Amino acid sequence: MATATEARPTLNRSFQTKLLINGQWRDSLSGKTFETINPATEEVIAQVAEGDAADIDLAVKAARKAFDTGPWRTMDARDRGRLLNKLADLMESQIDELAALESLDNGKPLSEARNGDLPLVVDCLRYYAGWADKIHGQTIPIRGNFFSYTRKEPVGVAGQIIPWNFPMLMVAWKWGPALAAGCTIVMKPAEQTPLSCLRMGELAMEAGFPEGVINIVPGFGPGAGSALVDHPGVDKVAFTGSTEVGKLIMRNASNTLKRVTLELGGKSPNIVFADADLEKAVDGAMLGLYLNQGQCCCAGSRLFVQESVYDEMVERLADKSSARRLGDPFDPETEQGPQVDREQFDKILGYIEKGKEQGARCVAGGERFGEKGYFIKPTVFADVKDDMAIATDEIFGPVMQVLKFREIDEVVERANTTDYGLAAAVWTRDIGKAHAIANRVRAGTVWVNCYDVFDAAAPFGGFKASGIGRELGEKALDNYIEQKTVTVSLD
Ligand code: NAP
Ligand code: MG
Repeated sequence: MATATEARPTLNRSFQTKLLINGQWRDSLSGKTFETINPATEEVIAQVAEGDAADIDLAVKAARKAFDTGPWRTMDARDRGRLLNKLADLMESQIDELAALESLDNGKPLSEARNGDLPLVVDCLRYYAGWADKIHGQTIPIRGNFFSYTRKEPVGVAGQIIPWNFPMLMVAWKWGPALAAGCTIVMKPAEQTPLSCLRMGELAMEAGFPEGVINIVPGFGPGAGSALVDHPGVDKVAFTGSTEVGKLIMRNASNTLKRVTLELGGKSPNIVFADADLEKAVDGAMLGLYLNQGQCCCAGSRLFVQESVYDEMVERLADKSSARRLGDPFDPETEQGPQVDREQFDKILGYIEKGKEQGARCVAGGERFGEKGYFIKPTVFADVKDDMAIATDEIFGPVMQVLKFREIDEVVERANTTDYGLAAAVWTRDIGKAHAIANRVRAGTVWVNCYDVFDAAAPFGGFKASGIGRELGEKALDNYIEQKTVTVSLD
């Protein structure tokens, strides 16, 4: 394993580990805390206050008050936008430190956090800052002597539950549209990665968001998370995570008829035709699968390769995968860090064993890397059949399945034979074929001759079991808006 270098940035401040409720940092009512771990070393970074139902109740009451009677309600929309811009500016001014914190708690390579996640976070906040004063209704020409118009009003208190794979980016995707629309927020970050969300809370307070507008309650899903979903004071739940928990949240939210948006799992097809630029397709397949240690909801984990170039692709992928540099996330040379925690590590190794048992051919990796930290070697399985567990289940790790196909109708059908529908990609020099695939694959995002291209302006979300609703873009504002029709008699 690579050793730490002098390039390691110093985190020269103590971590914020408390709950943010009504503008105050406080211990949980129970006094309980939980550990957050550095997945590269398995050492404890900090003890974090563990919120449960009682803390959620306080946070929801604060968010309720801020929404119903606080200055947020009456603030000019443009000033809400200015606060979002201020937060983006503060984050940009501390981008190195924030990236280091993200890397420490999550395990992702520092270079990726610094050059990938953080710029997207800042951009997303700025994008939604621009929307704050551009959310408006219409006038409607109804029958009779009436003046009828619509207003777009904030939905109210938003409960937001996020995962650990892109901790700060998930905060930005959730806070941006909610705050631009004028909602108040109670957020529960993932238990594995609470630190950067809490740091964003500190910066939001510094930016000047009024008390109670942003509340953060770290804790566990069954405690703080489900209390947020159940609380009658919450108007809307936005969740990103597993499909299993997404279903549970939708069921539980129905008791209080909350609005629900869900960003869930995937098993995305990445389709390579023989006429593609193979060099680019190999790099795209590597990025599409290994980015973030394979912990991406849109990971291209079913790589369909056309028969005549199959063997060559497999060989190139095996060589490149074996050459990837694993190690200390703070080493600038590192391309792949550890998985986020032991649970994910064990789950992924379990799938690797299952792949071998079910007869797939492991041509790279296939085991852990090193003795300490949750590192897994980049793994490539060839001769994968559609019904193998590694081809149907979301593995959420650095494990690539390479499947062989003959022709377009066949690959479209196989690509769509999944409960998921988050993303897809196609590699070809034939523009007609590219568009045919883009039209026929049931997925919320299709990339042509590229992968993982994200932009705050482009909607992202899933068909089928990959979710409900869209994040990013203008579309995401709808998640936080109620439309009201006002009709005035002119007689
Ligand atoms: P998860 O359990 O779905 O966690 C996501 C978030 O939901 C976390 O904040 C979690 O809290 C919370 N949560 C869990 N149970 C809840 C409940 N009953 N009510 C309300 N909130 C609840 O995902 P995970 O356990 O971290 O990962 C499991 C699998 O999910 C992964 O292997 C992967 O396949 C998938 N996943 C998908 C995404 C994605 O971007 N779509 C992201 C992460 C994981 P805790 O912190 O206590 O878990
Ligand atoms: Mg969990």
